[in-house]
Amino acid sequence: MGIEIKYTNPKKLLNPATGFLQGYSYTLNPYVGCTFACSYCYVRRMPVALFRKSDWGKWVDVKQKLALDFRKEMLRAKRKGNTTIFMSSSTDPYQPIEYSEKITRTLLQVMVEEKPDFLFIQTRSPLVTRDIDLFLQMKDRIRISITIETDLEPIRKVFSPIAPPIPARLKALEKLAKSNLPIQATVSPVLPFSKEFPYRLKQMVNRVCIDDFFMGDGAGGKRTKQLGIKRIFEKHNLTQWYDSSTYLKVVDEFTKAFAKESIFISKDGFMP
Ligand code: SF4
Repeated sequence: MGIEIKYTNPKKLLNPATGFLQGYSYTLNPYVGCTFACSYCYVRRMPVALFRKSDWGKWVDVKQKLALDFRKEMLRAKRKGNTTIFMSSSTDPYQPIEYSEKITRTLLQVMVEEKPDFLFIQTRSPLVTRDIDLFLQMKDRIRISITIETDLEPIRKVFSPIAPPIPARLKALEKLAKSNLPIQATVSPVLPFSKEFPYRLKQMVNRVCIDDFFMGDGAGGKRTKQLGIKRIFEKHNLTQWYDSSTYLKVVDEFTKAFAKESIFISKDGFMP
């Protein structure tokens, strides 16, 4: 079955940041919906997905916004005060449709001209490397975070079979690192990984964020519980990895490769 694509023209793209992201002034979501369709995606339990007839991952709304309109919005926001922007909180700005629609790239082009105080880019997609030319023009005020929940492809395939393969994400991280851009590897949500994982990441990044289902789903683990993610762990005999204290063991493992001050836990890893 194909993907249902809708084109929308929202009045604004910058929305006040709340809850988990209240350290930011705005969130910026170029799309609604996400065709990476991760099983554990907490957005599945949010009204935007719950009130939709189609399943999460089967639809995407493309927020068309002329560059001129977004420029005006950015100027207005800058006049009002601080512009710290999180892109994106409920979609992946580099999901497959971005290859053709280039909404994220258009927004970045505007932000190169009208620079925000800080921009955090959160993605799982290697497509992010396409925009290195733009990132370099605002490298002193951005951080690019690539989610790598595990280094084990069989595990990735169990939990997020449509999301980009791990080797491609590692390659993207390496490319961004070689461009000397501020980057972060985000191990979120923590999934079973090999002993070598922290060392592999350390070859590319100096900063890592560790988050889990209990701290990071925006509802203290309730959304993940409602999604029945525990059953996937049980089915694959991995229940020891599904516990609110597991992240502490994960931090211990990462401390073998990273300095303590380079390891950020949950929310702290996403702040401006
Ligand atoms: S990539 Fe992010 S937004 Fe997209 S389905 Fe996965 S967790 Fe959800």
